[in-house]
Amino acid sequence: MSALTPKPFAVKEIYFTLQGEGAHTGRAAVFCRFAGCNLWTGRESDRAVATCDFCDTDFVGTDGPGGGTFASPVALARAVRACWDADPRARAASEAPYVVFTGGEPGLQLRAELVEACHAAGLVVAVETNGTVVLPEGIDWVTVSPKGDGALAVTRGHELKLVWPQGLDPTSFEGLDFECFFLQPKDGVDYDVNLDAAMRYCRAHPRWRLSVQTHKYLGIP
Ligand code: SF4
Repeated sequence: MSALTPKPFAVKEIYFTLQGEGAHTGRAAVFCRFAGCNLWTGRESDRAVATCDFCDTDFVGTDGPGGGTFASPVALARAVRACWDADPRARAASEAPYVVFTGGEPGLQLRAELVEACHAAGLVVAVETNGTVVLPEGIDWVTVSPKGDGALAVTRGHELKLVWPQGLDPTSFEGLDFECFFLQPKDGVDYDVNLDAAMRYCRAHPRWRLSVQTHKYLGIP
């Protein structure tokens, strides 16, 4: 591989599901989970020193369902489209196939050629990012979920979804250029307390909407 040859895409898993949280809750989607994150190594031994220390996602390696390395944007776009088309009802539906690039941190690997290849494959492209990496243009739905003290490079998009509490003040994001703002109670041993606090916050600050992780309630991946 020459120095100019882009690295293959490292993908943990690709699967067909329903979006579980945020503005598109309940929407059929292919999730493409990139391997790797810039705010945590994914190793438990590093969690205490990670910028983001409450992650509940396995984004290490390429060994999940549908995962692997993909040599080109077209190859990855085809794999995503094939995942959607594997369900005959989804394939026959009139709605455009929808892909959510997530991670890990998708911004580390998502580039304009992949967005273009996905569009050429008929896919609507969404991304869920921690917002610390500049994204390519042309993404159809950008969700930024700030984590820890990682400085934001993405300050505009469609949806800002703050996992809360995590030492960040929701009001500090209200000046950013997003269409909607979601507060999502942080999972873990304090979940009930966090849910109650988030509900009270949203009642007192109607700009913020409550987002709950419905896939966890429903037991879907
Ligand atoms: S930024 Fe996202 S993927 Fe990375 S460690 Fe935090 S929650 Fe996990």
